[in-house]
Amino acid sequence: MVARLNLFVSPYKLMPFQAPNARSAARAREGALLKIVEADGMAGYADIHPWPELGETSLADQLAALRAGSKTSLLERSIALAEQDAEARREKRSLWSADIKLKNNLLVADCTLAGIADLQRAHEQGFELVKIKCGRDHAAEAKFVNEVCERTGLRVRLDFNATASEQGFADFFAQLGSHARARIEYVEDPTPFSEKSWNRIRSLVPVALDQEWGSAKLETASHAACDVLVLKPARQNVEKAVDLAARWDLRLAVTSMMDHPVGVAHAMCTALELRRKFGESVLQAGCLTSSLYESNPFSERMRTHGPLFAPVMGTGIGFDDLLESQAWMTITSL
Ligand code: MG
Repeated sequence: MVARLNLFVSPYKLMPFQAPNARSAARAREGALLKIVEADGMAGYADIHPWPELGETSLADQLAALRAGSKTSLLERSIALAEQDAEARREKRSLWSADIKLKNNLLVADCTLAGIADLQRAHEQGFELVKIKCGRDHAAEAKFVNEVCERTGLRVRLDFNATASEQGFADFFAQLGSHARARIEYVEDPTPFSEKSWNRIRSLVPVALDQEWGSAKLETASHAACDVLVLKPARQNVEKAVDLAARWDLRLAVTSMMDHPVGVAHAMCTALELRRKFGESVLQAGCLTSSLYESNPFSERMRTHGPLFAPVMGTGIGFDDLLESQAWMTITSL
């Protein structure tokens, strides 16, 4: 590996159109783009987008850690992704696998704001899956899931962000019709992780492990109480996740972090690469999150055709000229 020379950041704000999940309010989200410049002058880029609502330290704390030369687990991932980007830029190669077609799910962050007609249209545009965030109002959400399954051709992913109790989830599930039950691809983090609860829930529906990753301790467990691993390249070591999925025979779903388009691009490039390597065990991705925010010059470069991304032009993750022209603040010299 080439030694790193300089670190720079460029703080940004993303303005959401609506609250992103049951635990977060709709307000500007803060993050920073990261630029590393390696010893040979080659630059690589990644995103730093913490979620304090989900227990991560704030952007200010992340940047303070970076200045102090220490790495939070989030910074470790951002630097690793920036290094991967630099390597591709050095070889003048794009990280977008243009020959791989991998669809993304549509995202409904709040079912009270979503229209069935929009979902029907999305299905006509090629979407096959919709991910519905749950946890605000189970009765309204169950009604919405039934409607989606009856009136659109979409299958569903549900994400409770570990907000339900086992009984609460069972009550929710009891309100679903048989048609809806058959069309659920998986339920993500139905409750806080509990091997027993999750195994009981798995007798009803496949379960995906996402933010309960830390509690599930898959590295040392004697049994994996889930069917799918949600892999967020901005948070998890990709090689390690791939090894765990192979060990436990889990499918993988790669998603972005509702982060900056630079973070989205890293996630999607990873998803495409894993699909190339592992085929159908890598499920549809969940990287179409940029439309949750007001547009910016980066999101305007991310062209989509229904559920598919067009490769972003340039080397590495793309955005070459935009990244070069950001206002970069020096963090440290190594
Ligand atoms: Mg999740």
